[in-house]
Amino acid sequence: MPTRPEILYPLFGQLTQFSGIGPKIALNLAKLNIDSPRDLIFTLPHSLLIRKKIKTILEANEGDIIIIGVTVDEHIENQQKNKPYRINVSDVKTSFQLIFFHSRKNWLRDLFPIGDIVIISGRLEHFEGKVQITHPDYTCKPSDIDQIPLIEPVYSLSAGITQKTLSKSTKQALKGIPDLKEWINPSIINKFKWPKWKDALQEAHFPKGIDQISINSPIRQRLAYDEMLAHQLTLAIARQNYRKYRGTENLGTELLSSIVMKAIPFELTNAQKRVILEIRNDMSQPFRMNRLLQGDVGSGKTLIAFLCMVTAIEAGGQAVIMAPTEILTKQHEDTLRPLAEKAGITLESLTGRDKGKNRKAKIDALADGKIQIIVGTHAVFQENIKFNDLRLAIIDEQHRFGVRQRMDLGKKGDAVDILVMTATPIPRSLALTNYGDMELSELDEKPTGRKPINTVMVSNSRIEEVIERLSIAIKDGSQVYWVCPLVEESDYLDLTSAEDRARQLSSVLGQDNIGLVHGKMSGEEKDKVMSNFIRNKIKILVATTVIEVGVDVPNASIIVIEHSERFGLSQLHQLRGRVGRGIDTSTCLLVYASPLGKTAKKRLETIRETNDGFKIANVDLKLRGAGDILGVAQSGLPKFRMADIETQSDLMELAKDEARLILNNDPSLLTEKGKALRNLLFIMGADEYIKMLSVG
Ligand code: ADP
Ligand code: MG
Repeated sequence: MPTRPEILYPLFGQLTQFSGIGPKIALNLAKLNIDSPRDLIFTLPHSLLIRKKIKTILEANEGDIIIIGVTVDEHIENQQKNKPYRINVSDVKTSFQLIFFHSRKNWLRDLFPIGDIVIISGRLEHFEGKVQITHPDYTCKPSDIDQIPLIEPVYSLSAGITQKTLSKSTKQALKGIPDLKEWINPSIINKFKWPKWKDALQEAHFPKGIDQISINSPIRQRLAYDEMLAHQLTLAIARQNYRKYRGTENLGTELLSSIVMKAIPFELTNAQKRVILEIRNDMSQPFRMNRLLQGDVGSGKTLIAFLCMVTAIEAGGQAVIMAPTEILTKQHEDTLRPLAEKAGITLESLTGRDKGKNRKAKIDALADGKIQIIVGTHAVFQENIKFNDLRLAIIDEQHRFGVRQRMDLGKKGDAVDILVMTATPIPRSLALTNYGDMELSELDEKPTGRKPINTVMVSNSRIEEVIERLSIAIKDGSQVYWVCPLVEESDYLDLTSAEDRARQLSSVLGQDNIGLVHGKMSGEEKDKVMSNFIRNKIKILVATTVIEVGVDVPNASIIVIEHSERFGLSQLHQLRGRVGRGIDTSTCLLVYASPLGKTAKKRLETIRETNDGFKIANVDLKLRGAGDILGVAQSGLPKFRMADIETQSDLMELAKDEARLILNNDPSLLTEKGKALRNLLFIMGADEYIKMLSVG
């Protein structure tokens, strides 16, 4: 079992070894996620404090931080409590005041003897027409003037820690950095003119100028790249691990898929054709597939999934598709079963609802291979579910699916090919970061003939008008989704608001026209309402966000989203994606509570202006940041301390390519270079991935 090399020990010692850090400060540092010398050196300053040495304050502006020699003229003691203690001083040209709150008189008298020249440093302020410096940060004798630093790093702090503490302890931690062999490819180092790791850290903490603190400085770039390289290496190791298991060469005969193709009433889009080829090609390889399919709402992912499952059946095996909700499972079952039947394929569904005998029968049929395709919720991945010969596992409509979960999934069968389909596209930089272990397919085209969706913003003061318009629309045969507000962190309140709205709409538009669906209903109840909506028995479906992903009812052409300002961008895009699937022009009404804040307005306008999920994802990334979009906890995405995923996606791409190349040449990282990279992985805390290297 590989353990951390001794040379790295200084990076992982106790913080209390440093002078200035006692147990209490160590606790405060822990609040900043600083638990070791390594964490200290990886916590970089965000800006610089620059001091100007001047002779008279007449040369400086308000706000400047200056170093200046002054003669002490007079002490003005504070007469009342809460009033500051003042000291009149003069420089070579003019005079001003030093201000002290709650300071001890004797201490100030000793520090500033009348008639002496004292060097001080501090921020120049104007207050009630006078120039002053409050609490100088340095005070010394003229002979010690050079001890006041001209440039000082500024760190983000939490309570109980000062800049001085942090900078002093970081200085000590930097002394302990070992000399390590370079792990970055020399050609990359030369190309970008990056410094050595140790020098980069030194200079990052004690920069010589403001340009060195910029994210684009070679110093910062190098440190960011180290972080990305380590991250991509872990993903590449995970990838290597799936591929190590010999997969089955799942080669289709096209005998069944040609029957399916004939049964489909439309042509595949070019993007669908291309992606199906990519996936089938991957499935036919002798190693396990691990692929992500990114596609916008309504781009036709379900059919791709089905055609690939058919390939797995043709190759003699079984396939499974997992959907996030029961509603979606039912829908997949309903749309796919007729196609499967035509081709003579046995397709069944399995959810938490299947109980007792029924459940046992299905489980048995799966185990002996009688069921060829199973559609289900996460129930299909439970321990007791065994397949006869599972070849392809598809995870549909996933917002969040981390590397760890993917690795667990792979355990169902060593040879299982895996396809993950996203619910909403995520920006390329994020895809690289979160799914760097997978191959990527992009479905960047929607079926032709779709009418655009007309998106309108409506203040909730006009809700009566909206309801009136709906009453006309449903008389004309339209069907409507009415999505109720997201009430933060409360299923119960979500539900009440949906129930209230359904009741009110029933009284105005007639009870028979209105259906209600929410997460607290039993599966059977949901099915009943959904199938009534699909069969056009209900005109308006009032719903919580249970219909957010995947639901496909082409005849529905209007969606009303109440309190749309409370939803995330991708969520709104997903919800809107429920319409615009049929031949009618569709409408999306974004109802908002006015007044609308600036950001909220910008978000709704983004949705109104574009229906391109990839573009919306990019805006979402800017507005919310990566962690929120992927859900850091679920995805296992590390929190980068030095890298910025958003602006440095080029470096991330480079790191991904490098990481794959490195493992191709040195799969267990055993060469000299490989050992240097192991050091990097240990430093970044990727110990468990290093373990994976040595297996087998
Ligand atoms: P999503 O990518 O959001 O999962 P779906 O797979 O639900 O999209 O497809 C949306 C709708 O588009 C479905 O009704 C499906 O039958 C239809 N569809 C899929 N591919 C095509 C195509 N090539 N031409 C026309 N309609 C298509
Ligand atoms: Mg779908």
